[in-house]
This record gives sequence, structure tokens and C-alpha cells, in this order.
Amino acid sequence: MKTNNQLPFAYDRSQPFFERLNEWVGDVFYDILPEAGLELRDEQVYMAFQVEKAFIDKKIMFAEAGVGTGKTIVYLLYALCYARYMRKPAIIACADESLIEQLVKKGGDIDKLSKILGLNIDARLAKSKEQYLCLQKLDQERAKDDYDELYDEIHVELPSFVHANETLQSFHHYGDRKEYPHLTNEEWNKVGWDSFQDCFVCDKRHRCGQTLSREHYRKSTDLLICSHDFYMEHVWTYDSRIREGQLPLLPEASTVIFDEGHLLEVAAQKALTYKMRHDVMEELLTRLLENDVREEFAVLVDELISQSLHFSYVLRDHSKKVEGSNRKELVFTSEVLEEATRMTQLIAKLEDEIVFESEMYTIDQYQLKIVEEHLDMIHHALKIFVGVDNAISWVEESEFGITLVIMPRLVEEVLKEKVFSKKLPFLFTSATLSTNESFDYLANSLGIEEYASFSVESPFDYREQMELFAPVVHKIEEKIEHTKWLLEETNGRALLLFTSEEELLQFKDLVHNDSDFSKWNILFEGDQEISQLISIFQEQIETVLCAVSLWEGLDIPGESLANVIIWSLPFPPNDPVFEAKRKASDHSFDSVDIPHMLLRLRQGIGRLIRTHEDKGIVTIFDQQLYDNSDLLSRVKEVLPAGVELKAKR
Ligand code: SF4
Repeated sequence: MKTNNQLPFAYDRSQPFFERLNEWVGDVFYDILPEAGLELRDEQVYMAFQVEKAFIDKKIMFAEAGVGTGKTIVYLLYALCYARYMRKPAIIACADESLIEQLVKKGGDIDKLSKILGLNIDARLAKSKEQYLCLQKLDQERAKDDYDELYDEIHVELPSFVHANETLQSFHHYGDRKEYPHLTNEEWNKVGWDSFQDCFVCDKRHRCGQTLSREHYRKSTDLLICSHDFYMEHVWTYDSRIREGQLPLLPEASTVIFDEGHLLEVAAQKALTYKMRHDVMEELLTRLLENDVREEFAVLVDELISQSLHFSYVLRDHSKKVEGSNRKELVFTSEVLEEATRMTQLIAKLEDEIVFESEMYTIDQYQLKIVEEHLDMIHHALKIFVGVDNAISWVEESEFGITLVIMPRLVEEVLKEKVFSKKLPFLFTSATLSTNESFDYLANSLGIEEYASFSVESPFDYREQMELFAPVVHKIEEKIEHTKWLLEETNGRALLLFTSEEELLQFKDLVHNDSDFSKWNILFEGDQEISQLISIFQEQIETVLCAVSLWEGLDIPGESLANVIIWSLPFPPNDPVFEAKRKASDHSFDSVDIPHMLLRLRQGIGRLIRTHEDKGIVTIFDQQLYDNSDLLSRVKEVLPAGVELKAKR
């Protein structure tokens, strides 16, 4: 095997790099891959030589490639060689955490390339903080009177250096969500990192798996794989981390590739989001009172704590549940805005007092800095919040109480300045990047002014490989009966896609009370860690997988997946984010709901056929198709070429 850092072709730096790369890529596609049993695909070769232009010109490129083009192999070849040439890793940002696992799994594209080309590829995962165990939360959980023994087991199995005073050399990263596949999402959420943990001041940070993972992935020489969310978190926290004397979350990259790039805007908005919770504010401010502070300072702190509590009650009383979403809609009354404004004023006053207090040197300067940063962040967020039109805000409720979430409306300006102004090759790939053959909608939403683009069709013969049905179903009982019949047809081997957790849970409930389903091993998202569920589904051929988050990216070629059941058309929920988009549009159904639904539907249908050999059935259960002829024709327009939508088999 060739060692890391060595280009996979003979090259000396006096030669034109891209000429040599071009020859080598040609050899790979025309000789090496076919000799290893991989088929030669014209679409893939075309894509490769288009992508090369993005690297030569250091440009932004939208590469729309239909299912089966083999786009991952294309971008991996360029990313790898360019990383080695530039001596900086390439960042590959995937839509979510389960997709980053798919890329590096055994038999996945990186593994395949590594074997075929005889290369030792250094690919490391930079996972989001939520994917790591938080030692503080684990301690809190174990300190509860009625805690579950499973948290003791986690504690006992932690590496010895977490408890002991061992030397630094023996530290390694641990505590990845994947190491606890048996935990349900609910159990994991009690001990996994969340945005209210302040790692910067945590006394366990030097022994925490989450911080240690960073040391590991930062050393990657070839590929650094993360989620869109994590990449965006890196972007937004870049300046503040440098200010605090910390390293940015990700190292400098030679190129950035956004796989499923049409989803980047959502990640950018999510990462820019501010979260505010009373108990966190109270704890932070109470720490100040433990110092020798002036009386008027203490009174002001108390006043802010009371106001924060009162504000959380007001938010609770002015929010209402939204079907299909955990985001509660906030009703913007004058009371809500007045209380937010009062809170902002108190924070501003306290910030002034902190400056005065810091000159007295009675409070630890470090502690003061943390409080200042937090107050500054809340102050900024509340100012956006009261200027209603600048933000999309909602409320979330958990065992810790009410969380106010504030998301700035426009992210394109920030993206333009902080990401796309860099002279780097940025590559967006997905089967669905354009709308009406134009990439402008996506480019505008991301603040991209200049770009190159191309589209390649899928090489599959969908007419031969896929059957597509939309049976007439009026009631859920009819969907259930159809589902049984469909599972019999393919002997399990089915993926059921739901549009919300509620829909999935309702189905789960019905399945558990219906003995006809007991003959199949049915897996439900949320019961175990998601990549664990995916590998069981892939390895145990006759299983059925029910999921909410696998409309995109899931790649299961072969026998395990022969049947995709779409429980209802994937219209967006009526949650505050989509409501805000609808309000900003004159024809919201046509410009927000329909494009979102069609894009997800195309993605969902795209899960079935992954190779020329795959065959199967896709079923869409949604009565709306027969109640609305316009909707039916819109759906028909986006179906794979040659596939007819039938009501019956
Ligand atoms: S560093 Fe962060 S994640 Fe780790 S234990 Fe501390 S608060 Fe939790």
C-alpha cells in the first residue's frame, strides 16, 4: 500500500499537476475500476471531467448527478489527490451523521477505493458534539434518586484515565453515540452533549471523549468527514474560538465538498440559531452571587433571574403545539415583546455593571468573562427576537423547561462573507440541486453569486427496474392492510418512510397490536442508534426499517431493499420555520410546500434502485393524489423517466 501523503501517480512538482491528475483519473475510470469489476459509466466519466474544472479554477460548482452516477467515487478521487497535493485535508460535509458513517463503513466507497487503488486513505470523522457522551450529564443522571442502572454501566465502562490521574499519552477518544447502540434516543439524550453544556469552563474537558475526538480528527491528512451542521458550527464559532484562544473546530481545508448540498441552507440556519433557557441563565448568574459583590449588583442579578423566570412562563403561555413538529409556535403578543424588551434592558444594565465590578477584582476574571459572553449572546439574540421580522423564533419544551429558539432569517450574507468568499474549490453534489433546470434558487439562498454547474442523468433503466403504485386509500386501516400485502410480496426487505415522528409512532403502535406483523423483524428509528439500525437492515435481509430521517442519502444496494413505502407525501410541517417561509411568499403552496415535497419525494423514491441489478416496488400512500389532479400531475412530472404511476398492481 502506498503511504499517506503520496500522490497515487508519479508526479514531481515541476510538472503541471492537473495534467497528470487528468491522465490518472482517465486510467482509473477506463482501466483500473473496470478491471476490479466496477462497471464503466459514461455519466461518471463526464462528471469527473466537469468536476476537475472546479479544482483547476478554485470555483464553486453545482454538480447535479442522478442516482447511480457514482458521484461519490468521483469527488473522492479529486478530494484525495488535491488534499495530498495541497498538503491540507479535504473536508467532506454530508447531510447528517448517519451519512458520514456510510461513507467510511466497511465496503463503503472509501474502503472500496482504498482496496482497488492500493491506497492507505486517512479518513477521519469529525462528529457533532451531540454524538458524544457528556461526563457532566452522566454524573447528574447518576445523582438522581430514581436513575436507571444503565447509566452506572456506562460509567463503569469508561476508559480508566477518565477516573484516574493517568498521563496524557494514554488518552484516546471514546464516548461516541455509536458505542452505545442499545440506548434509545430518549435514553441517550439524558447523557449526550446538548447546547446548554458549557465545555469551555468544564473541569472534565481534558478527559472528555468529545474534546479528545477533536485532537484525533484534526490530524487527518487526507479526508475529514463531518455533517453540514458541524461544518456550519465550525464557520459560526470560528471567530469566537480564536478570540478565546482555542483552535477552530476544523482545520484549514484544501477543498470543501457538500454532499446532498441542497440541504446546506437548513444546516446554516440551524447553526446560527440561539437557544435560551431559564435554568442555564439562573445557574450562571447565581455563580456570580457567590462572590463578594456590591449590593446593588446583587439586586440587579436577582432582578434579572426573576425576569428570566417570568419570561419563560410568558413564553410557555403563549406557545402552542404544532402537529408533526417539536417546535411550538409562539404567539407574538405585546406582552411577549414587552417582557423580552424588559429582559434585554436588564441584561444591558448588568453588562455595564459587570464592567464596573470587574475593576474591583472581587470576582474571578475568567468567570466574569464566561458570564459576559453568555449575556452578550442572549442580548444579541433577544434584539433579533424583538425585531420580529429579522428572526424565526419558536419554543421547545423538555424536562428542563422552556427553551426559546431564535433563528436569524437570512443567512446568505453571512455565508457569502465567511464561506464562499474564500478562493477554494467548493463542490455541491446531489441528485436534486436545480429547480426548473436552474441552480439560481439554491445559489441565491446560499449567497453564491458566481458558480459553474452541470447535470447528469441517472444511468438506470427505471422502466425495467421499478414499479410504482399509489393505491386509493381512505383510512389508516387500509394503509395497514396494503402494507401487510406489500411486505408479503417482498418478504420484508422494505423501507417505510414517514414524514414525522408522530406518524411513525402511530404506525409502531398499530404494528405492536397486530399479530400479522410479528413474522417480520421490524426496526424503528429511535429505538437504537441510527447507523446500527441501518447495518442490521442491510445485513439481515428480510428486515423492515421504519424511519423519519432516511429520505435522503441512504444507500442500500442489493437484496435488502426491494420495497419503499411512502406513508404520506412529504409536505413540510406547519412549524414556525416553514410558516415563516410561507409568509414571505405570495404563492406559498407552489413556492414552498410543493418544491419541498417534490424534492423529498424524489429523494425517497431514489432509495430503491442503487445498482443496475436492483429491482423493486415503490408505493405512495396519499389520498390527496386522487383528490387533487394538479398535485397528481406535479408528482408524475418528477418520477424517474419511463416509470408509470399505477393505482393497482
Ligand atoms: S467538556 Fe463538555 S461534553 Fe465534556 S463533560 Fe464537560 S460539559 Fe460535558
